[in-house]
Amino acid sequence: MSLPLYQAPGLNRRKVGDILITMLSDGYLDVSFELLSGIEAVDAENILSLHNASRLPRININVYVIQTRERTILVDGGAGGINGWGNRLPVALAAAGIDPLQIDTILLTHAHPDHVGGLAGPQSTPFFPNVQQLFVHQNEYNFWTNDTIRSGAPDDFQPFFDLATNMFSAYDEKLVPFTHEDLLPGISAVPMPGHTAGHTGYLIANKGQSLLIWGDIVHFPHIQIDQPKVTIAFDSDPGAAASTRSRILDRASSENLAVTGMHFNMPASGLIERTGTNYRLIYDTWSPALI
Ligand SMILES: [Zn+2]
Repeated sequence: MSLPLYQAPGLNRRKVGDILITMLSDGYLDVSFELLSGIEAVDAENILSLHNASRLPRININVYVIQTRERTILVDGGAGGINGWGNRLPVALAAAGIDPLQIDTILLTHAHPDHVGGLAGPQSTPFFPNVQQLFVHQNEYNFWTNDTIRSGAPDDFQPFFDLATNMFSAYDEKLVPFTHEDLLPGISAVPMPGHTAGHTGYLIANKGQSLLIWGDIVHFPHIQIDQPKVTIAFDSDPGAAASTRSRILDRASSENLAVTGMHFNMPASGLIERTGTNYRLIYDTWSPALI
């Protein structure tokens, strides 16, 4: 008998009023701290050590399923194995007892490969064929489908356009490009431009409880929450990404708002605490109780 090669599926649930959120790990991708601007690699490692976190430059990838009375909603789709990244979403969904055929709605935070690679296969084959609506911010859709922007982008960025447009055509008639914030019962869009043109978070609120899924506000949670000015090479407008991060951290800390994101170190949520002029992330610990 051979031993498994992978970590067990990563799952964590929480409730927001009557809405159930399942946080799922799609795996990870390994990068380098050289991708960060505004901090030296050694200082990035020191921040992780201060939080008793691994010093590896490893970015975890998370995906969310939101189950309301009316809908089963997938928020992003993980990397789908692109460049060897992620692709643990199918086993995580199976472990959670969620059939991909149940998914009827997709909310997209943005169209980078580690968020859309798991939504469609080659020749625009949808991996979630029963989806009736895929919501994406109008500015995000416009960016990836604009031929002028694409022809002005560097060569190594072209595969990003291939993946995004392949995914958009997989869900062609189901696409709902939006500009308003009131999306679905209990779910509103929160514009967070900077990382990409139409980068968007989703605020889930029901019966006095709430959770903000903030997409890629951070890629290295402890580092960029401690030092919000630190940006990453994937940011399309680093200055806007940093100011959006500061604005959202200010809001989350002052409203005591539970937050979670695609690159949190576990499929977990947490709280943001202000520490003088900066912030820190306090992860929720895993609990066997669904409260
Ligand atoms: Zn990402």
